[in-house]
Amino acid sequence: MCGIVGAVAQRDVAEILVEGLRRLEYRGYDSAGVAIVHDGQLGRVRRLGKVQALADALNEQPLAGGTGIAHTRWATHGEPSERNAHPHVSGNIAVVHNGIIENHEALREQLKAKGYEFASDTDTEVIAHLVHWHRQHTDSLLAALQATVKELRGAYGTVLMDVNDPSRLVVARSGSPLVIGLGLGENFIASDQLALLPVTRRFLFLEEGDVAEVTRRDIHIFNSDGQPVTRAEQESEVTHDAGDKGEYRHYMLKEIFEQPRAITDTLEGRLSEQGVVVESFGNGARAIFEKVEHIQLIACGTSYHAGMVARYWFEALAGVPCDIEIASEFRYRKSVVRPNSLLITLSQSGETADTLAALRLAKESGYMGTLTICNVPGSSLVRESDLAFMTRAGAEIGVASTKAFTTQLVALLMLVAAVGRCRGNMTEQTEAELVRSLRSLPAHIVSTLALAGDIEQLAEEFADKYHSLFLGRGEQYPIAMEGALKLKEISYIHAEAYAAGELKHGPLALIDADMPIIVVAPNNELLEKLKSNVEEVRARGGILYVFADKQAGFKGDATMRVMSLEHVDEVIAPIVYTVPLQLLSYYVALIKGTDVDQPRNLAKSVTVE
Ligand code: GLU
Repeated sequence: MCGIVGAVAQRDVAEILVEGLRRLEYRGYDSAGVAIVHDGQLGRVRRLGKVQALADALNEQPLAGGTGIAHTRWATHGEPSERNAHPHVSGNIAVVHNGIIENHEALREQLKAKGYEFASDTDTEVIAHLVHWHRQHTDSLLAALQATVKELRGAYGTVLMDVNDPSRLVVARSGSPLVIGLGLGENFIASDQLALLPVTRRFLFLEEGDVAEVTRRDIHIFNSDGQPVTRAEQESEVTHDAGDKGEYRHYMLKEIFEQPRAITDTLEGRLSEQGVVVESFGNGARAIFEKVEHIQLIACGTSYHAGMVARYWFEALAGVPCDIEIASEFRYRKSVVRPNSLLITLSQSGETADTLAALRLAKESGYMGTLTICNVPGSSLVRESDLAFMTRAGAEIGVASTKAFTTQLVALLMLVAAVGRCRGNMTEQTEAELVRSLRSLPAHIVSTLALAGDIEQLAEEFADKYHSLFLGRGEQYPIAMEGALKLKEISYIHAEAYAAGELKHGPLALIDADMPIIVVAPNNELLEKLKSNVEEVRARGGILYVFADKQAGFKGDATMRVMSLEHVDEVIAPIVYTVPLQLLSYYVALIKGTDVDQPRNLAKSVTVE
């Protein structure tokens, strides 16, 4: 789930490994470690906490050597501690691992029966011992790993080395990515190309099931059937770091376009073949999810909209009653805590003052536990909650939140599946379908981003308007709210959102040709009702802008502009339909010439009440 870096080189690699770990820090982790072979000895340094603590330790106690592996760990099995930090060792074998070995308990028993002693509480350590065991009965480290992966169930990206033969690293990928970085007379491995950009731009991307052997000069890759395969060399297209706008005019646009990758990162290593890995939410998550009878969501601003979507999902998909409240209200209100209620806070920064105060209050009030969904590792919400889930959106610099919001929704949908399954209210089949939909999401976002040019044209029609109305129904209602918030935040056009069924109870009075009405209309069971609401607006001379599923049957004319989106599974539609609304507000702001990344009066991380 977190970071892996490996190197096989002639020069000393400790610095390269540590720099690689630094570049993966944004993903969140609790400990870091490195192991390097030198003169037939294994040097290993591990530290609880930051990569900087590891770097400081290495300054005191430098490790020489050209073959090494390094890791940042986000504990799933066994508490965050130095003894549980990777690399783990079995005799002459050292291993780093991202992901989860689901059958670790059974393997642990078998290995103990063979006489292996365990030095940690991790699932990972079984890989070290298993490879050690198979190495006695095979003629190479590669063959030992190939035999081992046949016994592993779960999600893993793993890299191993043998102290007795520092000429090679062996690696296996299943459910957690690995790339090989190609150097001159040296080669590298990482869980993400970002880690290796200081040393190479040439990469081989391993595919699911691949096992490979990497030496300074050669790379041999085998697929899951053990057949030799080649993976095409690719030049990295990453041209800038997180703090750089790169080719984009604004951070906000860059961050909108980063969403497919951010979502891929959020999902990575947290899905098994059929379902969501419950431990992704932290040690002890399962015990809490099995008992939870009520969910209380707390958030502010954009995060509040993510929570509102989740409320629809929790009740419909997981069968668990759910309430959501704005943090600044919750903290000053006397509320009644439901039995076995789990408090969930949502915040990009993890420092939002009202949300943090709400969490602190809740901890005194008898909730069964606290969970935060957050984008900044080590932030106050993460430190102070029982459970934490990092969204891995990467640094978000534009004040108007974009990728932090869509990755929160992804995290929440995974949480709904995990809770639904633990409560026994979601079938295996529904969970498998949900996981399939989640996996399809990055590609759907890419196709939706292709509408940018059309939306830019559409934006021309908004730039001289003073007011606008956003409409949606069901879980698209909060998406309409988020669309309205984006427009007001960065273009300063007054925007309101309504649940479309509520129109006739008041806001219809506002409709005229100067009030654009934006509608989000996926193809779901509420479509016919939404169409009636659209007709109510048309009958009163309103101009409509409809973002609709292309199968939904909307036809554009003089009073209705239709933007067709490809059909997506209903459960992920709120995430997909967020994207055109982000683009719309961006292009309207661009035409109006406002300060897109730092809109007036607003701050990125609201650390004051
Ligand atoms: N499951 C492993 C552990 O708890 C690896 C976690 C990770 O991906 O960092 O040590």
